[in-house]
Amino acid sequence: MLLKTKGFVVEFLFPQILHRLKIGITLDDKEVNHVSDHLENEFELSNEEMHLYSRQILLDGWDIEAQEKLKLANVLIIGAGGIGCTSAELLARAGVGKITIVDADTIEISNLQRQIAFTANDLGRYKAEILAKHLQDINPHIQVSYQNIRFDETNADELVQHQDVVLDGCDNFTTRYLVNAVCKKHQVPLISASAIGFEGQMFMVDADSACYECLFPKEDHANEGLRCADSGVLATTPVMMASLQAHHTLLFLGLGLTPLKQKLLLWNGLNMSQRILKFEKDVNCPVCQAT
Ligand SMILES: [Zn+2]
Repeated sequence: MLLKTKGFVVEFLFPQILHRLKIGITLDDKEVNHVSDHLENEFELSNEEMHLYSRQILLDGWDIEAQEKLKLANVLIIGAGGIGCTSAELLARAGVGKITIVDADTIEISNLQRQIAFTANDLGRYKAEILAKHLQDINPHIQVSYQNIRFDETNADELVQHQDVVLDGCDNFTTRYLVNAVCKKHQVPLISASAIGFEGQMFMVDADSACYECLFPKEDHANEGLRCADSGVLATTPVMMASLQAHHTLLFLGLGLTPLKQKLLLWNGLNMSQRILKFEKDVNCPVCQAT
């Protein structure tokens, strides 16, 4: 009844929101720690943004403050493949204020089966660039930037250090270990998702938690050149994992929740089951020892 028409929603929503803005809601000290300086005075949502995000703002447990936190957030997305395409689009639609995409690859025909931001007209063009333009078309109220480069030791610090959260959707172990180490070094939370075949994994690493290398010691994967893309993947598996990754990111940015902190989520796409395993710090982990 309440949500019967769009007009009614806005009519219902606006007096409450405008009143709350008028009485001067401000972010507390803890929240400001996650906010970039250049957006300090731009946290208020415009009337158009109120319309755009009205279905979220009306949620029980998700209010205007949560939406403002999204607007202030800086998110780095590493990899514009099957994971990154979906998670980036969901975050853009949900209202994450500043999204940066990093990927050096160009679009191939075999990508179109699962990388939902791309079309046959985009073949040969840079993934990061096309995805960024797609996001900006979807939501002109956010800031989107991109770099057509591979995430590596030469650029990792600069890319990660000012982010509020990093989303890893890369397709190889070398990058995944590097992302983990750099996020731990700069104490930037990491939400990582991957998909192979019919199965997916996801975990969160926070500043004070165990890390990816605690969970999977590097030497175990030292000789593996395997990329997710080389071993086959159903169209829906990365989209499923990216949706979970984006969902967790919204919970974290908007509400400060960390349901997968130091936990590994395993999704089995053949029997549709999901398991969540807690993991502990490895006292010999070189990444955790260094931080
Ligand atoms: Zn560790």
